[in-house]
Amino acid sequence: MTRTIVIGGGIAGLATAGLLAREGHDVLLLEQLDRFGGRVGSVEREGFRFDTGPSWYLMPRVFDHFFALMGTSTAEQLDLRDLDPGYRVFSEPVPGTDHDRPVTIPRDKARVLKAFDDLEPGSAPKLDTYLDSARHTTAMAEQFFLYNPFTRLRSLMHRRIFGALPSLARLLTTPLDTYVARRFQSPILRQILGYPAVFLGTDPSAAPALYHLMSALDLDEGVQYPMGGFRHLVARLEHLARGAGATLTSGAEVLEITTGQRAHARGSAVTGVRWRDATGTVHHARADVVVSGADLHHTETTLLHGDDQSYPETWWQRKTSGPGAVLVLLGIRGELPALPHHSLFFTRDWQKNFAAIFGDHPSIPDPASIYVCKPSATDPDVAPAGHENLFVLVPIPADTRLGAGGADGAGDALIEQTADAAIDQIALWAGIPDLRERIVVRQTIGPADFARDYHSWQGGMLGPAHTLRQSAMFRAQNASKRVQGLYYAGATTAPGVGVPMCLISAELVLKRVRGDHGAGPTRVGTESVN
Ligand SMILES: Cc1cc2nc3c(=O)[nH]c(=O)nc-3n(C[C@H](O)[C@H](O)[C@H](O)COP(=O)(O)OP(=O)(O)OC[C@H]3O[C@@H](n4cnc5c(N)ncnc54)[C@H](O)[C@@H]3O)c2cc1C
Repeated sequence: MTRTIVIGGGIAGLATAGLLAREGHDVLLLEQLDRFGGRVGSVEREGFRFDTGPSWYLMPRVFDHFFALMGTSTAEQLDLRDLDPGYRVFSEPVPGTDHDRPVTIPRDKARVLKAFDDLEPGSAPKLDTYLDSARHTTAMAEQFFLYNPFTRLRSLMHRRIFGALPSLARLLTTPLDTYVARRFQSPILRQILGYPAVFLGTDPSAAPALYHLMSALDLDEGVQYPMGGFRHLVARLEHLARGAGATLTSGAEVLEITTGQRAHARGSAVTGVRWRDATGTVHHARADVVVSGADLHHTETTLLHGDDQSYPETWWQRKTSGPGAVLVLLGIRGELPALPHHSLFFTRDWQKNFAAIFGDHPSIPDPASIYVCKPSATDPDVAPAGHENLFVLVPIPADTRLGAGGADGAGDALIEQTADAAIDQIALWAGIPDLRERIVVRQTIGPADFARDYHSWQGGMLGPAHTLRQSAMFRAQNASKRVQGLYYAGATTAPGVGVPMCLISAELVLKRVRGDHGAGPTRVGTESVN
């Protein structure tokens, strides 16, 4: 039996532990925190239950496929609800003028087309073509790129890829914002189509237009919510991994990946990990395979010795992080009818916004474009009766020096100032003047918390940005180039950020250990399709 250690019990670690246990490995997962889920965290206070990570359930086919590989189905594991409206967009008011009415994106493509046409007459057919292209690109990505371990050039030698080369080249070399601006005039529509770049940890001028495929998710397929929040997804992944035979241990911090000389070959191979339990006792666990689901920067630069590092510190100096975040968790007395489940607050000059986050002189944007989730719109269990649950995400530079958050205003000054500004912004833009007086619980989280809790590189919330040079085969892949038997899963590796990508990264590790070079999703119960 192959002895396998998985480092980290985030989405990717849990998914990998489950898949490899089903493959017959003897799996031990070691998670440093006293809970599983990693960035899919939650905070419970005074009857409120806040998710501190993901809130958009996108790419449902990826979840369906993963659950099928685990011998179950999404319907058996999750109670998904369709959100209607999908989300609402508030624009920055111009002083001295009436506020623009917020734009509501409904569920159902026909209604989305109408909403676009109302804002920019004649834009419905253009959006229809745009979404056709997004859907087509998504299908290509799923068949050839996302599930591809990129271990054989042959996996890309397909007539569909050859046929699509001219359009793929155009989509890779055109920035997303340019691609959108060529088709739509309305500033708010341009923002709606450009914003998905932020889900990928970058800005619309740095993301390749290939990522217009993201609009097929929110505008065409629609947005869903798993009842119980993403914490429930973590509980299901834990249950499935244990059910498949994996041992999951929390309070177990890995200190070092140990290696030895490869048998009959040059270079090194994994021998196991050194880890510390909650009592402070240090252990050595032997393994034939180690999969790190921890942040790749931490794995490479802290857990491995110099000669074993495929991505040393000098490699990271040339890389671009996605954004950091100030998260503001608010328990609110009374109802907030102006806010549906998801709301986006877009500044008018959002180039300035992105420049503040990603530019040469990073600073906290003011005002910032922010995201607000009100899960109590859908889920009665996340707030006490007569109250609302708000999760506010302010993207800021990934920089631990900006500080940590705290309970009820006790965080570092910059983090609390940013939270105050966001609260005032929501109050003003959404017309809720008494919002601040109705706050009964307040908790903030900042980049220093991300670095401390998840060992995240620069305190970023997502991982390396999805610029062209950090996407697909150009992103750090799922196996060490130096150490035999060492694999990587998670948002900081391929294929990239987001819960669906983490599930795929686990499958990419499965393919690596199987020696499966196929480009597409693994056929359920068998080897890869391609
Ligand atoms: C605020 C926020 C909002 C988001 N919104 C969405 C969304 O709406 N939709 C979506 O799909 N995605 C979203 N994401 C992205 C998504 O949450 C992440 O991509 C994903 O959860 C990352 O999972 P992971 O397993 O790669 O890493 P992590 O969650 O970071 O897990 C790594 C685990 O490794 C552990 N670890 C680290 N070092 C060690 C060590 N030395 N020893 C033992 N354990 C260790 C950590 O404690 C952690 O539990 C969001 C993320 C954030 C932060």
